[in-house]
Amino acid sequence: MEINTESHSCGAILHILNSKGRPMPKAFPGLRDIQRGLTLLNFNPGPIDGQFGARTEAALLALLQARGPALEQRESAPRGAASIVQAGKYTVREAIIHCSDTRPLWMDNAALEAKVADIRRWHMQERGWRDIGYHWLIDRDGKLAPGRAETEIGAHVIDRNQGTLGICLLGGHGAAATDPFERNFTRAQDIALRALLADIKRRTPIARVSGHNEWAPKACPGFSVPLWLIGA
Ligand SMILES: [Zn+2]
Repeated sequence: MEINTESHSCGAILHILNSKGRPMPKAFPGLRDIQRGLTLLNFNPGPIDGQFGARTEAALLALLQARGPALEQRESAPRGAASIVQAGKYTVREAIIHCSDTRPLWMDNAALEAKVADIRRWHMQERGWRDIGYHWLIDRDGKLAPGRAETEIGAHVIDRNQGTLGICLLGGHGAAATDPFERNFTRAQDIALRALLADIKRRTPIARVSGHNEWAPKACPGFSVPLWLIGA
């Protein structure tokens, strides 16, 4: 499989694969979670040891091939940059998790791109924004789609858009702020979100991962992000 490392910036998994041939850490935060996730999806990464070895790489490549081109992303942060900077001045130091507040089977037979187009239309036509408010979206099957470019300030949380990335999990309709993750979201989404966060942490100095409900009296994303992060 051909992976063009220069003309496309990439999502979490593709980004890791693209690091081939350049110096990359053999271990990084979240790698064990990715290995656990690969195991659950029947892509055997070898031992869950937090080491990015040949078997983990092969399993990620197999997953990528199985998922097709949906993981290819539009231009985001410059490759090799030490941080993601928005609007030329706000370094990204936080990721904020959201949900789309849609039902589990919403647009079930549609491609992720069509769902993202619908959410973009809500944001642009009904809220009057210039683009979709989120930077990343994760479908029920774990597929990842880009929203607004990471180098642009998002529109996803009042008074906290500068220097943050908004990540939206599809689903979460009727969820409560204190629900366990698995009540409203899938195992594949759990894996994809952890992989995406690990990737973002390699590209910018993330000091905090939070949920929308920590910044506003809302249920969104429909679970406690701090508890989810520690696996509680
Ligand atoms: Zn939200």
